[in-house]
Amino acid sequence: MHKDIATPVRTKAILERHGFSFKKSLGQNFLIDTNILNRIVDHANMTEETGAIEIGPGIGALTEQLARRSKKVVAFEIDQRLLPILEETLSPYPNTKIIHQDVLKADVQAVIDDEFNDVSDIMVVANLPYYVTTPIIMKLLEENLPIRGIVVMLQKEVADRISASPGTKEYGSLSIAIQYYTKAETVMIVPKTVFVPQPNVDSAVIRLTRRKEPAVTVKDENFFFKITKASFSQRRKTLLNNLTSMLPDGKEKKSVILAALEEAEIDGTRRGETLSIEEFGRLSDALYPIFK
Ligand code: SAM
Repeated sequence: MHKDIATPVRTKAILERHGFSFKKSLGQNFLIDTNILNRIVDHANMTEETGAIEIGPGIGALTEQLARRSKKVVAFEIDQRLLPILEETLSPYPNTKIIHQDVLKADVQAVIDDEFNDVSDIMVVANLPYYVTTPIIMKLLEENLPIRGIVVMLQKEVADRISASPGTKEYGSLSIAIQYYTKAETVMIVPKTVFVPQPNVDSAVIRLTRRKEPAVTVKDENFFFKITKASFSQRRKTLLNNLTSMLPDGKEKKSVILAALEEAEIDGTRRGETLSIEEFGRLSDALYPIFK
């Protein structure tokens, strides 16, 4: 077996040899702990038949561990300066492919069609660039890609919001947006010391397992998300107050909003953070005929 990339000594040597300087604006915090990397990969439950998609391979620390434990890894990297480094570090792993692209602009479905046509199980596994964690996760979910799930490192504070339950202060429209598509769990808390350079915030790993059907069936998805956002717009306000101030002509339509709340069997004096996804589904379906 080849020597691991992600040891402090080897990482430092690679970076120095290539004269690489970190770009904070690209969220470059590289992992230098193989034990953590292996635990991340464990949480993805991959087999030799699994295709792995990585976002931001850096110098290949995670890519290497994925390559050893999956059929093939395809990784999107935005920073051109990393390409020659990756070519060198990943040369022992012919089952890896780097795509030089901003993942937010990439046609991921086309890449899956091209690269994974003989693969039936696909997982996204990554140590995400922290400045774009939410847009990346939402893109992967909204594009309805044929993936089993997502295991990613991100800011602990965002992980807490993503996997929050109703009634907690972390629970909000992000929790609902993600739990609508997936079962969300925080599976690891990770100390700053395993990165170089060390990030300013604490980190965590979440596992998102795609649901076969969304968590709730609604008349109109976009409207459902609009209602959840409106319900959380001012967290200290009641549901009724948020809806009347956020919906078009809401104040004039207060009585119809009240009737819709009654139809959905939801007390308008509750706060948005107490509603389950099912309750938001009922509420948005009751409001839809009025505001669509
Ligand atoms: N996977 C490596 C590791 O764990 O050591 C590096 C992780 S580092 C937190 C994030 C990586 O994402 C960097 O290599 C960065 O250049 C890359 N990146 C940042 N923005 C990106 C984007 N929009 N699309 C693709 N890669 C991006």
